[in-house]
Amino acid sequence: MLRKTSAVAAATLLCACVDAASPEAQAASPAPIPTPVETTAEAPVDNYASFGAVLQRHQDMAARVARISRRLRVANAPLCAVTRLDAGLSTHRLSDYPVPIQPLAEHFMQITGEGRFVRFVVPGSPADDADIQRGERIASGWPIRDGEPLVLGDGAVTLEPDTACAIPAFVVQSDTLNASTDGREIDLSSALVEQAGDDSGLAFVIAHEMAHVIRPPVEGMSRWDVELQADADALVLMRNAGFDIDGTVRVWAAGVELHRDSQALSLTHPPVDIRLQALRRALSETQRRSSLVRADEVMELE
Ligand SMILES: [Zn+2]
Repeated sequence: MLRKTSAVAAATLLCACVDAASPEAQAASPAPIPTPVETTAEAPVDNYASFGAVLQRHQDMAARVARISRRLRVANAPLCAVTRLDAGLSTHRLSDYPVPIQPLAEHFMQITGEGRFVRFVVPGSPADDADIQRGERIASGWPIRDGEPLVLGDGAVTLEPDTACAIPAFVVQSDTLNASTDGREIDLSSALVEQAGDDSGLAFVIAHEMAHVIRPPVEGMSRWDVELQADADALVLMRNAGFDIDGTVRVWAAGVELHRDSQALSLTHPPVDIRLQALRRALSETQRRSSLVRADEVMELE
């Protein structure tokens, strides 16, 4: 069982990160929320309920990605050129959703009328410490500013937000395994999030994309070198955030035999053996470091 899980997770990691402009990436960029199935006279209740389940699954995935991404973004804030205050709170409004599904969003996601509501709270975050609950109405104070209160339906609370890299990660509903970044945010396909394995596996995918933003390729670098650099940097970012980098590389190694042939056709990534070899080198290099790697040190990493 472990082997099967590892192989699936490794396949997912290997498929990650296509060019934002590639056909694969374009195929993975539909609307972020699926449209509901048209209800019929025969089975309106079933469709309604099943769409509710789809929405809930999407919400759960978004909350999980936000939790893992936040941990990476806060721990690595000193390495990021652009940061923002982050209290571990995601919000939404009814108008964020396409008109046809607004009644469903209202019903299933506790958006009761006009205004902004708490979409989810990241466990262990300042918002969680302040006991803010999903579905609470936000009257004012959003976006969060340091020292200014957030006014909720039942009173004001002053949060102590963390400084975090301003590279948010989002889930895009798609069956294609894909992760990409445009330099400002990260898009992960729902298929990839579902198959990325444990938190460390998903953290590796997010950290790899963050690495592309934190250290953009230098001129003349080959595409393969860019990817190997992002892999190595991802381990540093994960290590800074306390993720299990040793286990992540082990999962990688477990999937290499199964995916050598298919990955040999990849136009964007080096062959898996080269990638794994480089990952192992980067792992031991990263493990020798005792604390947060500073931005100038990241620049010195091979
Ligand atoms: Zn990449």
